[in-house]
Amino acid sequence: MYLISRVRYFLVVSFILILFFSFNRCKESNHNQKKLISNSQSENFGIVIHGGAGTMSRKEMTKEMDLIYRKKLEEVIRVGHSILKNGGSSQEAVEKSINLMEDSPLFNAGKGAVLNSNGQIELDASFMDGKTLNAGAIVGVKTIKNPISAAIKVMENSPHVMFFGNGAEKFALKEGLEIVDPNYFFTQKRIDELKKIKLKETKISSYINDEIKIMKYGTVGCVALDKNGNLAAGTSTGGMTNKKWNRIGDVPIIGAGNYANNKTCAISATGWGEFFIRNVVAHDISALMEYKGLKISEASKIVIHEKVAKLGGDGGVIGIDKNGNIAMEMNTNGMYRAHMNSKGDIIVKIYIDE
Ligand code: ASP
Repeated sequence: MYLISRVRYFLVVSFILILFFSFNRCKESNHNQKKLISNSQSENFGIVIHGGAGTMSRKEMTKEMDLIYRKKLEEVIRVGHSILKNGGSSQEAVEKSINLMEDSPLFNAGKGAVLNSNGQIELDASFMDGKTLNAGAIVGVKTIKNPISAAIKVMENSPHVMFFGNGAEKFALKEGLEIVDPNYFFTQKRIDELKKIKLKETKISSYINDEIKIMKYGTVGCVALDKNGNLAAGTSTGGMTNKKWNRIGDVPIIGAGNYANNKTCAISATGWGEFFIRNVVAHDISALMEYKGLKISEASKIVIHEKVAKLGGDGGVIGIDKNGNIAMEMNTNGMYRAHMNSKGDIIVKIYIDE
């Protein structure tokens, strides 16, 4: 009898011990699995946008306009950020953020774009995926409502990188993108600016006078890092006021106005395009990081202040690196810009001294 109860006692204790250890092992493996999932996701996702750099002075900006710009920048960055926060891709965040700015007459992209010297609107855009190094661009289009979406379609659904003019428009139509009458893009503000610039141009060179420069910029761009550690960059523009017909700026040129590489960073530029092409600005920042080990802030400073400025060009860049560090660098008085990080901290700025 005594022996039976000893055996029974032994069995019960062993059973409890087995239960206890298997429960702990299960907890541990769950914990390890969670750790694996969170390790493969980037904690530092983030997004940066710009709405153009230029000669901006507080004197010329009314309080209402200042507020309108800041509100729009905040609306856009919050939309892009929520896409990333919910696990969306950097590509989706960049496209949707730029679409909002293209649809707003405040910026020089899509509706509200600047006029060329013939009084026409010719739009350029490009997109780059940092994971695959795939890219797409469209040049000189007059009827595609959202040029950045067309650039993305070129990347995704064609064997090419860049389409121009009629071909780009036919391609966008075939891809089911919205096509609009060219008049959709025109705003009175841009018509007046062209008239003003034409008057001044008879007396002085259009590229030197500050009053003229103020009317030239306003390109939009967005760079993002998603939770999977993928970088993307997009830029969209009407170019520069009074540009000659068929002039192509830096925006659709991969490596000049736009670049993304998961090894380094994603960059979108804005400014006097000819100088950004000659300095291969966006790729140069990435190259300084890759080959010299510079931080994104250091590389952006060198390219904007030492390279672009030394040749006589002006403008700025936004960038985000593979760890979520950002740069918002300019050699102009201001750049419409905003940033949100994974914690939800938000920055919205216009002037250089903010
Ligand atoms: N970079 C653009 C261009 O030269 C203009 C701008 O950024 O505002 O076309």
